[in-house]
Amino acid sequence: MTLLDYSKERSVAIKAVLSASKVCQSVFQHLVANETLTKDDKSPVTVADFSAQAIINTCLKEHFPADPIVGEEDSKDLQGDSGKVLREKVVSLTNGVLSESEQLGEQQILDAIDRGNYTGGAKGRHWALDPIDGTKGFLRGGQYAVCLALIVDGIVQVGVVGCPNLPVNYKEPEGERGTLFIAVRGQGAFQRKFSDEKEEAIQFADISSTAESTFCESVEAGHSSHGDAVEIAKLLGITRESVRMDSQAKYCSIARGDADIYLRLPTSKTYVEKIWDHASGNVLVTEAGGRVTDVNGKELDFSIGRTLEKNKGVIASKASIHDQVLKAVQQVLNK
Ligand code: AMP
Ligand code: MG
Repeated sequence: MTLLDYSKERSVAIKAVLSASKVCQSVFQHLVANETLTKDDKSPVTVADFSAQAIINTCLKEHFPADPIVGEEDSKDLQGDSGKVLREKVVSLTNGVLSESEQLGEQQILDAIDRGNYTGGAKGRHWALDPIDGTKGFLRGGQYAVCLALIVDGIVQVGVVGCPNLPVNYKEPEGERGTLFIAVRGQGAFQRKFSDEKEEAIQFADISSTAESTFCESVEAGHSSHGDAVEIAKLLGITRESVRMDSQAKYCSIARGDADIYLRLPTSKTYVEKIWDHASGNVLVTEAGGRVTDVNGKELDFSIGRTLEKNKGVIASKASIHDQVLKAVQQVLNK
């Protein structure tokens, strides 16, 4: 059996995520209030979200025409008269980044977005895409991420995350922003600037006990319980203040050692996590020397479909402290 190195998937994913990230940056700079609408789940979605999905799906179709895609968005809000204004913006934004020969018509762009409607599952290859993870972060000028992953037979093999607002070096928060994270299973984890192709290997911070660690958690208390996190921090002897940010930038931050532990502590009994919110971060953290499980200690199961139905919450940390973190999480959640 030949071992796949996924080098083509890696480079196509980088190209796709970078162009979508640049669209997001440009939209943010020109953001006007009426470029947002409300989705059923009440999360804000922007024209950039649709455009990013159209751009990435078009790029994937060109290089991997047979690969299905599980994408967060669909074109429902862009259809008909009610979607006309938004649709026209998405069309012009999308064509703005495509070359002369790649220009797409309105229907082609809607079709590209709807290529993300795959059901997922355990067999074969598919991509998981969150065109803008952390839409709230995007709208408040904080962290957000363009996340693309390749899942093969239920295992994430390639993950690329574009973080347009994340400083290249967290010790220089006022320095250059725009960091791309890349991981292929078995090949390590890397980061690079948007502006330079040179990659550097990344890994978790070198801590010897949980007392030295820092949590990275959601800004939104509705997405992960801040109260439970405080209790868990006490059990682990953590005194440093948690770093809060939106999106899978949290997985990226711990993978390069800016912080150490990312907990997603369920706030509702019914919420089911989506694969596009975790696939890229999962392989990135694993390849940087970390471990990811749910709050019950189970690996995240990407083979079920569009959701992580078999899991509850997420714990991501340096592998060497993971058992200890898991124990503290269970002690608090089982109270
Ligand atoms: P974050 O930026 O980490 O706070 O997470 C953003 C993601 O949270 C969004 O992409 C949503 O898919 C997801 N989300 C929405 N509602 C919930 C919830 N009740 N619990 C956990 N995650 C949620
Ligand atoms: Mg998301």
